[in-house]
Amino acid sequence: MQELDSRIDQLRHQLASLPEHAQIAGLQAEHTRLVDQARDARILVDDLNREQRKADADVEQVKARRERDRSRMDQGLVTNPKDLERMGHELESLERRISSLEDVEIEVMEKLEEAQGTLDSTAVELTAIEQQLTDATTARDARAVASNEELARAAADRATAAEGLPDDLVALYDKLRLSKQGVAAAPLRARRCSGCQMTINPSDLAVIAKAPSDEVVRCEECSRILVRTSESGL
Ligand SMILES: [Zn+2]
Repeated sequence: MQELDSRIDQLRHQLASLPEHAQIAGLQAEHTRLVDQARDARILVDDLNREQRKADADVEQVKARRERDRSRMDQGLVTNPKDLERMGHELESLERRISSLEDVEIEVMEKLEEAQGTLDSTAVELTAIEQQLTDATTARDARAVASNEELARAAADRATAAEGLPDDLVALYDKLRLSKQGVAAAPLRARRCSGCQMTINPSDLAVIAKAPSDEVVRCEECSRILVRTSESGL
């Protein structure tokens, strides 16, 4: 049972420390960053689209007024010299206004192009990251298949091994597993506890040698359960 538990611990550790885990975590962080970036870029593009429509409308409005004034003059509707002079000044003022509004229009258009460029390139990066995430996840799962299968087999064997063991022994074993880095039971091999590697002194060894085979013997040094084998040196 100890051997199976140690193997299960080892397999779980292997599964938890697959290199793909770190790679996937890195890709997920980058993905989150790009999603945020895309959202910000989308908001900026929407704002600038609105600004552009407003700038276009402003230009059109002033141009319409200029056309109205021109056509009134062309039709000879303005005859009074003072009115004509005033109209001339107004047209000059409208030209300046149109020119400055068109500057705004161009400025907004340039900003919009830049923001749209950022949005487009972010979308391309996102697609690439999503593909990398899919690939890394597939690689991780493929690598984990064998370990997961072995883990399932070891868990089934472990359940079988635990069957029929006395409850108090299992309780002791579970308690020692927690306090002894997962190793509760260790073979006594060549007079040494393979849990702590200490040689058992001759008098303790004599006691162990005389103990009935179904008695639980423990290492005096590390408290682990000592498993007697043919190689124990008893
Ligand atoms: Zn020991």
